[in-house]
Amino acid sequence: MILFYMTLTVLYTDICFYIPHRLMHNNRLLFNHIHKVHHDIIDSYAISFQYCHTIEAVINEITVSLPPILGCLPNELFYLWYITAQVSVCLCHCGYIFKNHDNHHHYKMCEYGISGLPYINMDYLLKTKYINMIDKTRCVSKNTKSNVNLN
Ligand SMILES: [Zn+2]
Ligand SMILES: [Zn+2]
Repeated sequence: MILFYMTLTVLYTDICFYIPHRLMHNNRLLFNHIHKVHHDIIDSYAISFQYCHTIEAVINEITVSLPPILGCLPNELFYLWYITAQVSVCLCHCGYIFKNHDNHHHYKMCEYGISGLPYINMDYLLKTKYINMIDKTRCVSKNTKSNVNLN
């Protein structure tokens, strides 16, 4: 039962994180005034997930906290979920295990989601996974002037 709740919560969180995250990337105003702060860091490190605009920090906290609350998780599972979320976001930003968020920081227009579940995630469903994008130039944000190697 715990595994079922945790999987469901990961899926909800991926959806809740993906939508505002992609919106911030596709809207120049939102990107330049809010999300760009987080993307000032290209080669991220574990604690750099905290480096973001205040509005984005609030959105992120709601994103992480709301799905378990809506799912009526028992307190023990909520704390387990919250700790898991904090550890996984650190792992995403340190680049040792999950390379998808590394690609997001480098290329910006791919890998918007946070789910590590294979095939059951928003990036896979909406074809924004870096590895599946045939035209790698679509990954690079128009809002930036980065000289990235797309090979
Ligand atoms: Zn990040
Ligand atoms: Zn981003």
